[in-house]
Amino acid sequence: MEGSPRIGGRVWTHRFGRGSGVPYGELGAMRIPHDHKYVLDYIHEMELSHKLCKFVTMFEEHNAILRIRGKVFRVRDVSEMALQTCYQGLFQDKRYNENTRLFAAWFKTIVDAISCGELRECLEQDLNSHLMDELEKIDLQPFFNGQVKTIDIHAFIKAYPHFREKCSTALDLFLGDILVETSHDLFQLQGGMDQLTDSLAKAVNAPIRCNQEVVALKILDNGVEVSWLESGRLYTRHCDYVLCTIPFSVLRQMNLSGFDDNKLAAIHNTVYWAATKVLFHCARPFWQKDGIFGGASFSDEGIRQIYYPSIKNNSSEESVLLASYTIGNDAENLGMMPERDRNIYVQNALSKIHPEIQTKGMIFNAASIAWSNYKWSAGGCSVPWNHDMSYEHRHYQDIAKSQKTLFFAGEHCSRLTAWMEGSIESALQAVYDIAIYKPFTPAICVGKAAPFTEGVPVG
Ligand SMILES: Cc1cc2nc3c(=O)[nH]c(=O)nc-3n(C[C@H](O)[C@H](O)[C@H](O)COP(=O)(O)OP(=O)(O)OC[C@H]3O[C@@H](n4cnc5c(N)ncnc54)[C@H](O)[C@@H]3O)c2cc1C
Repeated sequence: MEGSPRIGGRVWTHRFGRGSGVPYGELGAMRIPHDHKYVLDYIHEMELSHKLCKFVTMFEEHNAILRIRGKVFRVRDVSEMALQTCYQGLFQDKRYNENTRLFAAWFKTIVDAISCGELRECLEQDLNSHLMDELEKIDLQPFFNGQVKTIDIHAFIKAYPHFREKCSTALDLFLGDILVETSHDLFQLQGGMDQLTDSLAKAVNAPIRCNQEVVALKILDNGVEVSWLESGRLYTRHCDYVLCTIPFSVLRQMNLSGFDDNKLAAIHNTVYWAATKVLFHCARPFWQKDGIFGGASFSDEGIRQIYYPSIKNNSSEESVLLASYTIGNDAENLGMMPERDRNIYVQNALSKIHPEIQTKGMIFNAASIAWSNYKWSAGGCSVPWNHDMSYEHRHYQDIAKSQKTLFFAGEHCSRLTAWMEGSIESALQAVYDIAIYKPFTPAICVGKAAPFTEGVPVG
């Protein structure tokens, strides 16, 4: 049962036009880390492996641009002086040696580019209170890349894993994501990520019904009662087993009964943060004349990450730019704007990096989504910490815990939140749990799905 008119959820490839080969961009998931085994396994099983290709990520394209506090420079040109002129205070404090200051400035730039406002603040506080002193104790020279004076954060964390523990908890947890997002072995699916969800949907041996909005779940001794809205009518149906993959941000707005207190607390307390993306369908890939053929630029002026396509999908000159990818407070700000104003805001901010975007006729079209406003996810992704940015282990178990024959899956139920891998991993676990559940084991049909019975209209 799918509430929205489309399948795929937070995998959403937007195509500018109809038919194959039209320019597209990803409004949801866009990268697959090399060790996301389940995603890659399903890509293989759906015979899509030949479409896997490298995803060029943030800081990988040295011609990409950084705009920090009004100053604009190429990744390849960032020197200590350049960063020093951007950041004040600690980064110019001569008590610390040059390498410490440059390393800290780079570390801040990486965190600023990828994380949300709360985590940026965590880093500021950590640097001020003790992280600069910690860095000063370490020989940082081996972690500066050769000619381009970027830092190798991966090698650094590998050599000094305990450094993470010195960071605030939420920052420590998010560093895992930062390491993945800046790694050099990410993939993308040429032609669009929705090829995976579409193929999986075709492979499911049962009807998938769209426009069935689940509005209530009632746990009974002998199953689960599911109520949903369809074409303005309320239906209800008794099910032996239910696997619920609805995000908790949506589930907590529903009528839930028979749930235990810990489960309800987990449903209500799971924290989601905002994510917003804006795509521009451009007349031509004007960034290529600056030597940019993929990767991402960064602007601290509210639009954050700007991703360039690194593969060509269509025969024309047209190209799709991910003009802004934000999370957290930046995403909320963009999400509050009407779509037209959001596009204009992004266009103006982007023009300070790429003036060509203001050329008449350069933007054919735009598509954007503020995932917090999207009815079917009411947020970007769940995060593994509480509202006060602390982490609680017990929480996880309650999030994923079944309630009699109501089982749960989705990225929020996994230890790898905010990744497709987590959704699949949790779904496999839930299916296993259903299979070994004792009282109703005969209801599991292997090989052929149970026939779908219609719901009973209520009233
Ligand atoms: C902007 C963004 C970028 C991302 N980038 C990446 C990336 O690069 N790589 C990566 O691996 N992951 C990425 N992710 C995360 C990834 O997209 C998600 O973790 C994953 O798709 C979530 O899958 P899910 O099945 O848990 O939830 P969803 O995909 O949200 O599925 C939930 C489904 O439930 C439906 N639903 C909701 N309410 C109801 C209701 N009342 N009744 C019936 N149906 C309902 C929804 O319509 C939806 O289809 C990104 C996410 C976002 C938002």
